[in-house]
Amino acid sequence: MTARFDIAVIGGGVVGLAILRRFAMAGLSCMLMEKGADILSGASKGNSALLHTGFDAPPKSLELQCMKAGYAEYLDIRQRLNLPLLESSALVVAWNEEELAKLPSIVEKAHKNGVADVRQIGQTEIRLKEAKLARNALGAVLVPGEHIIDPWSAPLAYAHQAIAHGAKILRNAEVKGVDWANGEWNIVNRARQVSARIVVNAAGLFGDRVESFVREPPFAIRPRRGQFVVFDKPASKLVRAIILPVPAERTKGIVVFRTIFGNLAIGPTAEDVDERETASCDGETLRKLHARALEMLPALEALASTPSTPAFVPRSSIRTM
Ligand SMILES: Cc1cc2nc3c(=O)[nH]c(=O)nc-3n(C[C@H](O)[C@H](O)[C@H](O)COP(=O)(O)OP(=O)(O)OC[C@H]3O[C@@H](n4cnc5c(N)ncnc54)[C@H](O)[C@@H]3O)c2cc1C
Repeated sequence: MTARFDIAVIGGGVVGLAILRRFAMAGLSCMLMEKGADILSGASKGNSALLHTGFDAPPKSLELQCMKAGYAEYLDIRQRLNLPLLESSALVVAWNEEELAKLPSIVEKAHKNGVADVRQIGQTEIRLKEAKLARNALGAVLVPGEHIIDPWSAPLAYAHQAIAHGAKILRNAEVKGVDWANGEWNIVNRARQVSARIVVNAAGLFGDRVESFVREPPFAIRPRRGQFVVFDKPASKLVRAIILPVPAERTKGIVVFRTIFGNLAIGPTAEDVDERETASCDGETLRKLHARALEMLPALEALASTPSTPAFVPRSSIRTM
């Protein structure tokens, strides 16, 4: 028998679950289908968990609007949902004269984006804030509002709240096709027959493939792999802020950050790859990440690290990673 819903969401990452929560709370009947054995089978399970202010997003962009709305909503709901927040701030650090010259334009862009508390600081203030940072940090942009969250508990809370409002979640339910017939969408998946008035494509890295069920996708996803090195807990005492590099044209660059669980991590890389299924680490990249972390925080030398399971990032949706 076909199960009928107002809304069917394809993909159980943070985006699909946030959408499910909103529609369920609005009183609509909702179903989410996730192809993995559990929710968070994609990028949402392996990101840096930085809550971005949008200070470096393209001015007037949809990306900026989404970042600002997401930031405000997380701060608004987090206490009610008991979601953690590490109020860390971020420093965009210039490690050479060329990068130092770019700092005023980063501040200017942040102000244009409405993030008014961003300001440039000099070496003395860097030392006061981050005594363990390598001495060749020449200057930085301080972004007080950038914070760290838990990447798993937020989408899990969205799932629970959606279910509490009547939503259903199907796992091991890869959507293989979507057909329009008799005024509704029929969603082809292994788990059960589902139809809905509206289908939301929240399939992340596979968004173009899902889109191709109904039309020529108006966008292409070109995958990138991101690897991290995670240091053991004593390392997190070495730094307070998220340490961002001055961004290169192609990526946001390698970031050093504490995790909500009390570790210190460095990454992610942003490697163009052809396939989307296999997430693997390689020793050479991890060694380079490890070495870069030591350059930035020499006191790390004495401490242990663990390679992480890498995650994929769809380049088209994450502009700066
Ligand atoms: C290394 C890395 C670091 C990042 N750091 C940050 C950060 O610090 N801050 C930040 O804000 N963002 C960060 N991001 C970006 C962030 O992780 C993503 O924007 C976000 O997770 C995307 O969520 P999503 O729900 O769109 O996609 P996903 O989490 O990929 O979810 C899509 C889901 O759809 C499922 N799916 C796919 N096809 C089908 C199908 N046919 N049928 C059913 N289910 C399907 C997948 O299994 C998956 O579970 C980072 C990303 C990466 C990879």
